[in-house]
Amino acid sequence: AKAWVLKKHFDGFPQTSDFDLKKIELPDLKDGELLLESVFLSVDPYMRPYSRRIMKEGDIMIGTQVARIVESKNPAFTVGAFVVADRGWRTHFISDGQGLQLLPSSWPESLPKSLALGTIGMPGLTAYFGLLEVCKMKPGETVLVNAAAGAVGSVVGQLAKIGGCRVVGCAGSDDKVAYLKKIGFDEVFNYKTVKSLDEALHKASPDGYDCFFDNVGGEFASVAINQMKKYGRIAVCGAISQYNDSVPQKGPYVQIPMIFKELQMEGFLVTRWNNRREEGLQALLKWVVEGKVKCHEQVTEGFENMPVAFIGMLKGENLGKAVVKV
Ligand code: NDP
Repeated sequence: AKAWVLKKHFDGFPQTSDFDLKKIELPDLKDGELLLESVFLSVDPYMRPYSRRIMKEGDIMIGTQVARIVESKNPAFTVGAFVVADRGWRTHFISDGQGLQLLPSSWPESLPKSLALGTIGMPGLTAYFGLLEVCKMKPGETVLVNAAAGAVGSVVGQLAKIGGCRVVGCAGSDDKVAYLKKIGFDEVFNYKTVKSLDEALHKASPDGYDCFFDNVGGEFASVAINQMKKYGRIAVCGAISQYNDSVPQKGPYVQIPMIFKELQMEGFLVTRWNNRREEGLQALLKWVVEGKVKCHEQVTEGFENMPVAFIGMLKGENLGKAVVKV
């Protein structure tokens, strides 16, 4: 088996030299165990801040994969079945079956299994619970989402449309803007090329925003908060504009708009709804099968390109969910 380890803690933006590719000898299977091979691996923003929090130098990079069972001495798992596992950046691994999630039995043969890492997986669930439970969106409201062409953001916008909302999105390239218009966003702009973020947000929704699904944080959030409507809700999902900072950014100072507009601002982790995972996955799977939610994936070929795919995603090179095909 091969695995990518964190050679050196990231300092600022991750570099390919921060990773090391290692060979690992796997022992023979014992009773109750199974051997799996990773077919698709996910690269996600959380790996950047979490590496500091939970990893030591020399540890295998954290992460999720869709894996195929190649050998089984566990009667609960048959050879050839696909599962989602949290076993980090490795090509093969042994498991006793604990923590493995079989793909839903209703998964159509024609649907790429990699979607279990994106729209019909953790990022899709983040959009689903964040909108329903944190934003508490209602039909007729206006929803703002940033990093809108990414794994979470693209689902947020489409679910908000299904929920009867008007959706404003922003992303970092004109191709992303065009894609978001194609999949039904009402207003989209490129935050990198607008003269003034404040003006662009105002133009896209002169009456302001009821819900703001924030994937970016930092300066964007401090500008957007001033354009919330009274009683607006802000779901603090991610802060990717701050993950690579060695020196923490200052602000935003949010108290004044929060008081006078009586806003609600709530941070959340998708794991809060682990007990409703099945509900979320079934809803997302249904919408994808019906064509109501469109999925795009940025597939990088080759396990050896894991660090490149990860760094590319942090730089915004992905349209939709960034995955690696082993
Ligand atoms: P994406 O697929 O959206 O990929 C990351 C995107 O972020 C890039 O494509 C880029 O798009 C954008 N980006 C990068 N740097 C910046 C920057 N400085 N300013 C603005 N945008 C930037 O990733 P995900 O959909 O997987 O994740 C989106 C956010 O959601 C992240 O913050 C992540 O941490 C968070 N998250 C939170 C979860 C939770 O439980 N709370 C669960 C899952 C994700 P662009 O070209 O538009 O700049």
